[in-house]
Amino acid sequence: MSRIVFIGLGTMGLHMARGLAAAGHDVVGMDINAEARAAFPGATALDKTKMGGADIIITMLPEGAHVAQVHDEFLFSGVDVGTLLIDCSTIDVGTARALAASVEAKGSAMLDAPVSGGPAGAEAGTLSFMVGGNEDAFERARPVLEVMGSTITHFGAAGSGQAAKACHNMICGITAIAVTEGFALADSLSLDLNKFYGLCAGAAAQSWALENRCPIPGIVPAAPSSSGFAPGFASALMAKDLRLAQAAAQETGQVTPFGAEAARAFTSFAEEHGQLDFSAIYQTLRALPDQ
Ligand code: NAD
Repeated sequence: MSRIVFIGLGTMGLHMARGLAAAGHDVVGMDINAEARAAFPGATALDKTKMGGADIIITMLPEGAHVAQVHDEFLFSGVDVGTLLIDCSTIDVGTARALAASVEAKGSAMLDAPVSGGPAGAEAGTLSFMVGGNEDAFERARPVLEVMGSTITHFGAAGSGQAAKACHNMICGITAIAVTEGFALADSLSLDLNKFYGLCAGAAAQSWALENRCPIPGIVPAAPSSSGFAPGFASALMAKDLRLAQAAAQETGQVTPFGAEAARAFTSFAEEHGQLDFSAIYQTLRALPDQ
C-alpha cells in the first residue's frame, strides 16, 4: 500500500481520495478550503512537512494556474526525489508539458492523468484516465489509477493525456450541440419528441450525448434535463474544456471550426448558467416543450 498525498478535495477529488483510502492506502488529504477539508478525515491545509516521504502526490485542482502554483510553492521543493507526481486536473497541454519537464529536471517523475466520468464515476471508481508521461512512471501509477478508474489509457509522452482529454471533450461538446439542434428543429416541426428520441437511439444519430444528455425533460429519466438540469457536468466545465481544445488547436495550427463554435456557444452560455448541466444549452435555441 502507498502513502498518498491528495491535493484538491472538491467535487471529484473527495470521492477519489475516499476510494484510495477505502482501498487501504494511507491517504493525507489537503485543500485550501476549510469546508472541503472538513469532508475528509484528517485533511489539512497544504503542508510541505507532510508531503515529504509520500510515494505519490496527486493533484485534482480547477485549472492549470492552480496546478502550476501548487508546484511552484510546494512540489518543486520539499518533495522527495522518489515521489511520483500525478496531476488528474484538466489543464492545458502546454502547462502539463512544462511542469513535467521541470519535475524531471529535478530527478522526479510526473504524469498528466485527466479523467472522464464525472462525480458519479469518481464515487464508483469507474473513471476513464487519459495518461501522459514516461512508461516507468505509468507502470508505478497503474495500481493506484486502477482503484479510481476502470479504463486507463497511456497515450505516450508528457502532455498526451491532456491532449486526449481536450480532443475527447471537444467531440462531446460538438455532439451535444448536434443533439440540441436536432431536438430543437424536431420540436419546431411538431414531431413527437419521444418517438424522435426512439428513432435516433436506434439509428445512426445514436451517441453518448443523445443517450445521457437528451435535453428534453422526461424522455431519459436519468438525464439532467429530467432533474432541472442539475449537473451532471456543469456548462462552465464544458466551456473550459472546449477552450482548452481551442488552445491546443492553435498550438498545432489544426483548424477545428465546429470545436471553435462549440467553445464560443458554451462560453457565452456559461456566463449566466455556468452551474447548469451543459445540456441546458438547449434553452438558447428554444423553450422547453410542455410535457
Ligand atoms: P472543484 O472546484 O469542485 O474542486 C477543486 C478543489 O481544489 C476545491 O476543493 C478547491 O478548494 C481546491 N483548490 C483550489 N485551489 C487549490 C490550491 N491552490 N491548493 C489546494 N486546493 C486547491 O473541481 P472539480 O469539479 O473537482 O474538478 C477538478 C478538476 O477535474 C478540474 O480540472 C475539472 O475540469 C476536472 N473534471 C471535473 C469533472 C466534474 O464533473 N466535476 C469531470 C472531469 C474532470
